[in-house]
Amino acid sequence: MDVAQRVAVVTGGGAGIGRALAARLAREGARVVVADLDADSARAVSEEVNADRPGSTVSVGADVSDTEQIQRLVDLAESTFGPVDLYFANAGIAGAPGLDAGEQDWDRSIDVNLRAHIRAAKLLVPGWLERGEGYFVSTASAAGLLTQVGSATYAVTKHAAVAFAEWLSVTYGDRGVRVSCLCPMGVNTKLLFSGEDSGDALGRAATRAVTSAGDVLEPADVADAVLAAMEDERFLILPHEDVLEMYRQKGSDYDR
Ligand code: NAD
Repeated sequence: MDVAQRVAVVTGGGAGIGRALAARLAREGARVVVADLDADSARAVSEEVNADRPGSTVSVGADVSDTEQIQRLVDLAESTFGPVDLYFANAGIAGAPGLDAGEQDWDRSIDVNLRAHIRAAKLLVPGWLERGEGYFVSTASAAGLLTQVGSATYAVTKHAAVAFAEWLSVTYGDRGVRVSCLCPMGVNTKLLFSGEDSGDALGRAATRAVTSAGDVLEPADVADAVLAAMEDERFLILPHEDVLEMYRQKGSDYDR
């Protein structure tokens, strides 16, 4: 898909991978809604991108764990730029490590890392089927393919996010709905180092397992891989080739 003039929504666009995606999409000529729980960071990213590409983005504070707030950001995209062509379900949280995760931790992780994807797809896919095109990019994780030491809430919700993305592709792919699933191992963002900073042994081990498993990418590398993949018609799992290799072998023997 050529993204020039397309309308995109990026959740979690106020930092890390989402910020890089928003900037790269705008550079390619897309019009982008930058959405984040943290309205100030979304605004800062939007202003930064607009300084280069005037009028290419708007920002909105939105919590993707709430259907009405997802609806609001889809409405904002439509009223500002037009119907949403591309949706990046990118907002995510690390969750609580180990069995200490309580009911609220589970609910929050399921809401943000999984249900938010389902909610957005429910809102957008019917319109995409009518128009015969639309593109859903799910940011899952290598933790959604491989079983890693660390947060159970993260592992479980990311596995489910990969399953949902694959299901979307299998079910609607032949009617013009394209789907990609981002499953990076380590990307240099606040989230990657949140385990290290948490003071929790399992959290620290999780960060170490990821950083010692291979190259840590920069967010811009991930955005480049996503944009390059848009020319491909297939369901794709991006961007680490070595993650795919480990997945094929179902490897989980990391250095703990
Ligand atoms: P990040 O912490 O830099 O950015 C995440 C952004 O999401 C933040 O701006 C945060 O405010 C926002 N957010 C959190 N909860 C939200 C909510 N309920 N509603 C709206 N926005 C919300 O982290 P990142 O690494 O850029 O993470 C982006 C995605 O990439 C996540 O889904 C994460 O799980 C995934 N991921 C990251 C890595 C990594 O190593 N960094 C690896 C694999 C997958």
